[in-house]
Amino acid sequence: MVKELTCIICPRGCRLTIDENNNVTGNTCPRGKDYAISEMTNPVRTITSSVRVINREDTLVSVKTSGPIPKGKIMEVMAEINKIAVKAPIKIGNIAKKDILGLGVDIIITKNID
Ligand code: SF4
Repeated sequence: MVKELTCIICPRGCRLTIDENNNVTGNTCPRGKDYAISEMTNPVRTITSSVRVINREDTLVSVKTSGPIPKGKIMEVMAEINKIAVKAPIKIGNIAKKDILGLGVDIIITKNID
């Protein structure tokens, strides 16, 4: 069975096909092949979101996962991120939550709040 997908590694967005033997077509560069194979075996995503700053009224700070997580865990991770609240001052690179859901990935602050 051939599966079609769009490569999301760069803005070019190549249309890829991959068959059951991991033969990939449509990729302009090797990263597209790696992406297609990863999507078939263990699809992952890096998540960006924001969390509450408890000592600043109506303030959110942006966060992201320190690495990709399995696609099937996105909803659970988002639910955990929604429970996080941090206290200012806080800096880019600070960890808002370590090892979220035991996935070996941290939630990292991506904005400075004085
Ligand atoms: S295959 Fe290569 S060029 Fe095409 S979207 Fe993916 S990363 Fe970009």
